[in-house]
Amino acid sequence: MPIRVLSEGLASRIAAGEVIERPASVVKELVENSLDAGATRVEVRVRDGGAKEVTVSDNGCGIAPGEIELAFERFATSKIDESSDLTGIRTLGFRGEALPSIASVAHVEAVSRAAGSDEAVRLELDYGRVKRRVAAGAPQGTTVRVEGLFKNVPARLKFMGSPGAELGRVHQLLNHLALVNPGVAFKLISDDEVRLASPGNGDRLAALAAVYGGKVAAAMLTIEGDNASAFSVSGLVSGLDLSRGNRSYITVAVNGRWVQNRRLSFALEQAYTGFLPERRFPVAVLDIRAPTDDVDVNVHPAKSEVRFLREDLVYSTIQRAVRGALTETGTVRAMQLPRQPTASTPARSGNGDSFGAAAYTGPAQRSFAVGATWPSLPAQPGATPQPDIKQEASKGPEHSPVAAAALGKPASPQKQVLPVLRVIGQAHATYIFAEGPDGVYMIDQHAAHERVIYEEIKAKVAAHAAESQPLMEPEAVELAPAQARAVEEQGAALSAAGFLVEPFGPRTVLLRAVPRLLASPGRDGRLGEWLVKLLDETSERAHAGAWQESLLNTMACHAAVRAGQKLSIEECRELIARLEMAEQPHTCPHGRPTLMHLPSGHLDRQFGRR
Ligand code: ADP
Ligand code: MG
Repeated sequence: MPIRVLSEGLASRIAAGEVIERPASVVKELVENSLDAGATRVEVRVRDGGAKEVTVSDNGCGIAPGEIELAFERFATSKIDESSDLTGIRTLGFRGEALPSIASVAHVEAVSRAAGSDEAVRLELDYGRVKRRVAAGAPQGTTVRVEGLFKNVPARLKFMGSPGAELGRVHQLLNHLALVNPGVAFKLISDDEVRLASPGNGDRLAALAAVYGGKVAAAMLTIEGDNASAFSVSGLVSGLDLSRGNRSYITVAVNGRWVQNRRLSFALEQAYTGFLPERRFPVAVLDIRAPTDDVDVNVHPAKSEVRFLREDLVYSTIQRAVRGALTETGTVRAMQLPRQPTASTPARSGNGDSFGAAAYTGPAQRSFAVGATWPSLPAQPGATPQPDIKQEASKGPEHSPVAAAALGKPASPQKQVLPVLRVIGQAHATYIFAEGPDGVYMIDQHAAHERVIYEEIKAKVAAHAAESQPLMEPEAVELAPAQARAVEEQGAALSAAGFLVEPFGPRTVLLRAVPRLLASPGRDGRLGEWLVKLLDETSERAHAGAWQESLLNTMACHAAVRAGQKLSIEECRELIARLEMAEQPHTCPHGRPTLMHLPSGHLDRQFGRR
C-alpha cells in the first residue's frame, strides 16, 4: 500500500484509542475537565455501565459561547500555550485531546454556560461531526452527555466488559477522585440509583466515610503533611485493626492529581511490613506534595502515570510518614466480642455468649472496634480502670485521635506501650494469660517471643554488637547453588548477625561461629543443617533489599519458644517483662497479633454486673 496521510477522522479515532478505552476513561476525562474548571459539584450518571450513556455535569466556569466548537477540535486547550513550561503543569488536562477523542467514537451533546454569560449553548456531535448548535437555558457550568460509545469501532466494543464490570470501574475511579478531592461533592448515579455521594466539605475523613463507610473511617490514622519541606505527604492510613485482601483501597495523589503508580503504593506497603500479615493491604489516601518541576505527568496519554526526578526522596518521605503514624499509635487488638442482642442480631443461646465464642477467629473476622486504641500508659495497676471499648465507642468519633486531627486539633501523641501486666498462668502450653488494669490479656507465647528476640537482635546488629558463639568444632556445610550465592552476596548481613562462615571448596562452607542466640545445647552438631534451612527461608521471604531484615526475622522465628512448650510462671513473667520493653509489642515481626484483650467492662456485662 502506498504511504498516505490519514484523514482527520481516522487519525482521531486512532488517537482516541490511547485515551478512551472504556466508559471509565470517558468519565475520567470529563471529570478532570470539571475539576480543572473549578467545579465544586460533579455529578456522573451512567446507564448500562456507561455503554449506553455517560453524563457528567458540573458547576464549573463553563465554556464561552464562541469557543464550544473549538473545545472539540484536536489539540485545542485553554490550559497551556506555547510559552508554558510542560514541567510545571498544575491542571489535570493539557493535551486538548479528550473531547475530540470522545466525540470521534460516540454521539455527544455538550451544554455549557460560561460564568458571566446569560445564555447557554448546546452543541451536538455525531461520531466526530458537528450536527447542531442551538442556544439553550442552563445554569452556569457544563454538562457533557456521551451516548452509544464505540458504536463506530466494533473492535473496541468487543473489549467492553459487562455493564456490572464497567460500572465497577467507574465507581472505583470516582471513589479515588472523591478521596483525592474532598472539597468537591461527587455523585454517581447508575440507572437512577445513587451509588456514591461525597459531601465535598473539604474534610478528607468525611469523604472517606462517604466512600468506605464510617467503620473504616474510624479505623484511620491521620498523617499531617510537613508544610515546611519541599516533599511532604499527608492523608489517612489504616491502623493495625484494618486491612484488605487487595490493593484497590490504596489511593495515591501527587500534587492533588490521582495517579496509579505501582512503586508509590509499594513504598506504602513496605511501611506496613511487620504491622500487617503477609498479603494484606492497608486502606490509604496519600497526597504527595512535590515541587512541580520534579514531577513529570506527561508520560502517558491518560496522564495517570507519573515520574519523579528524585524518586528515592519521594519513597523515603512516604515510608517515614506512614511508619511514624503507625508507631505513634499503639493499637491493641480487641477481641471479637459477642454482640449484645438487638433486633437485627438475634441473641445466640447457650455457648454463643460464652468466653469461647469470643475468641479471636482470624484476620478475616477481626473486629474493627472503635476506640480500641490504648489511650496512654495507665497508672498503677488497681488505679481507676481505663474506659472499656464500648464506652469509648459510645463517645463517638469526635473523641478518637483521627477525628480530633480532622477537626484541626492535633492528635495527642500516643506511644505504643503495654500496660503493666500481671501473669496469671499458661494455657494449652501456648498462651499466657495476664491481668491488666482494664481486663484480661491473652498472649501468644511464640509470637510475643519472636517480637522480643527480633527487636533485641536488631538493636544489637545496629550497634555492631551481635554476640557470636564459636563452635567447638567447625562444621563443613554443603550448599545448593542458590544457598552458596546467598552466602556470597549476603556475607556482610550474616556476619553482622553473628555468623562466621568461610569458603571451603566450591560448594562447601565452613561454619565457625553462630549467633549466640541460636547456639542452644540441643542444636550441637546440627547447626550446619540449620544454616541451610535458614538461608532457604530467608531468601523465600526476602524482597529486594530486605534480605538482612528477613534474616533477623527468620532467626527470631527459630529462636522463639514454640507453641506447645510448657513454661514456668517465672519464664512467662520474664517474657511479658521483655514484651513490655518492645517498641512494637502488639504484633510479631510478620504482623500477626501477639496479644488479645478482653476488657473488664465486657466481663462485667456478660456476668450481669452492670
Ligand atoms: P484539555 O483538558 O487537555 O485542555 P479537553 O479536550 O479535555 O482538553 O478540553 C478542551 C477544552 O475545553 C479545555 O481546555 C477547556 O477549556 C474546555 N472544557 C472542557 N470541559 C470543560 C468543562 N467541564 N468546563 C469548562 N471548560 C471545559
Ligand atoms: Mg481534558
